[in-house]
Amino acid sequence: MDADEMAYVLGHEVGHINRKDVIKMVRNSSQFQVLQELVFRGIGAIRTTSEIKYALAQLVSFTVQAVQAGYSRDCERAADRLGVRFSHKANYDCHGAIRAVDYFQSATGAGSNCILCDHPSWPERRRIIQQEIDGIGSQGQSPTRQCPEPVRAASPCRPRKP
Ligand SMILES: [Zn+2]
Repeated sequence: MDADEMAYVLGHEVGHINRKDVIKMVRNSSQFQVLQELVFRGIGAIRTTSEIKYALAQLVSFTVQAVQAGYSRDCERAADRLGVRFSHKANYDCHGAIRAVDYFQSATGAGSNCILCDHPSWPERRRIIQQEIDGIGSQGQSPTRQCPEPVRAASPCRPRKP
């Protein structure tokens, strides 16, 4: 992994910190646990068979997990955009992000966008990163809709010459 690729990886992680993703996820998880517990108690009070109560509880549990995974995927997409922005702002070639994603995909497989997956697939992440790089190249375009504080690029991102 070269310096440009590493700049994206670090930029992605700094993006999570910048967005306070971990804090938000812990808070959301706690709120969902409370909500789920209340629903479980409600299910327990329903006059029906234990099999139906079990099925309802499984449905609620699955729904909570799916909502949390969807939120996690949104955080990853936003951190990918910030990773591109931050690496560019730090004067690295933001095309390193594409190479890094290609490397991860070759090492781990494409992944999928399943409903319980907490990360988007690598092909989707590659598309998001390419859109962000294209956005840097466009003058006056807002970098990303999901950034809490948009970072404006000083110049179009071009591949670094060897
Ligand atoms: Zn991440």
